[in-house]
Amino acid sequence: MSIKVAVFSTKPYDKQYLAAAFAVEREKSHAGDGAVFDLVFHDFALNLDTVALARGAIAVCVFVNDVLNAPVLEALHAEGVRAVLLRCAGFNHVDLVKAENLGFFVANVPSYSPEAVAEFSVALLQTLNRRTHRAYNRVREGNFTLDGLLGTTLHGKTVGVVGTGRIGLAAARIFKGYGCRILAFDPYKSDDFLAEKLGEYEDDLDTLLSQCDFVSLHCPLTKSTHHIINEHTLAKMKPGAILVNTSRGGLISTRPVIAALKSRHLGGVALDVYEGESGLFYNDHSGDIIEDDELMRLMTFPNVIVCGHQAFFTVEALNEIASVTLQNLADFVLSHPCPNSLVRSHKLFVRRDSYPVRI
Ligand code: NAD
Repeated sequence: MSIKVAVFSTKPYDKQYLAAAFAVEREKSHAGDGAVFDLVFHDFALNLDTVALARGAIAVCVFVNDVLNAPVLEALHAEGVRAVLLRCAGFNHVDLVKAENLGFFVANVPSYSPEAVAEFSVALLQTLNRRTHRAYNRVREGNFTLDGLLGTTLHGKTVGVVGTGRIGLAAARIFKGYGCRILAFDPYKSDDFLAEKLGEYEDDLDTLLSQCDFVSLHCPLTKSTHHIINEHTLAKMKPGAILVNTSRGGLISTRPVIAALKSRHLGGVALDVYEGESGLFYNDHSGDIIEDDELMRLMTFPNVIVCGHQAFFTVEALNEIASVTLQNLADFVLSHPCPNSLVRSHKLFVRRDSYPVRI
């Protein structure tokens, strides 16, 4: 028997790594009665227009910009789909309450490589701070002047880490290695952060922002963190501070960020994620007229870097995403307890390693 899984938003690297993990896991993960998994790859995103492509599949395998709101989940259910396999950590794009009500199995890959994302955050920060993005272009044109490339030494500076979960913790360890003073904000304090003496917690975000030369966002997107960086919190930031966001675009309200850059209050912004990224990121729009005026304005600033949601993108992370996704699928099919389940028995399931989640 073949168990069909419809894989959406597939890129060549997804196919390569999922297929490889599937080949390795094939013997281990077949459903006992000789059933095998049949991955059907679609290169477009899951949404109401494409949901019919999941017909005949028991599960859909999706990524960060696929749509999993109530109408899509209802349509998937009507097509016979019973499981949602996220090949990512964030699950802000899934209506978990609706999924639970429909009896869906939903699982993510909570920790494929926190270090990969943390390292990328620091790389973005240092690119912006030391202007290597500008130096790269300048030197290629034979211009070896240093004017405009002046940065600051990270050693001794204060870095704000907002969210000290897996990625925030990994980032704090790197910043500590640089010799930075670390201030953290998280409603659920990390024992590891405290035990490793990585820095101090601030109970008030505004107080943290007013002291930091650099601020790196590592909290998930929820109702309470939506636009956590807004006109009010930007005003609290230290003049000239650099803001880094590799978490989720919706943490930042873009318009006031543009205003803070224009007024020179913000020293720079490095983004791997953007609120309006869905429909743009992961695709080639180089020949198109991009209609998002806020994104286009952002990209005109010399002290802004935008990347296309690539912080996770390492060999190690792709291997882990593929093997954990297939393990989640095997757990679902075999009715094994799944450590990565987000919804269980008609109530939101709060994982032991997680914080109370309400979307
Ligand atoms: P995690 O669940 O381990 O940690 C999140 C932390 O944020 C928790 O400690 C939680 O208590 C804290 N938090 C919750 N609400 C908060 C608030 N209001 N203020 C401050 N902290 C708050 O998650 P993680 O694995 O560290 O991942 C963090 C986020 O990174 C994910 O939610 C995802 O959106 C994003 N991410 C991005 C990429 C990428 O490629 N750019 C890759 C993986 C994850």
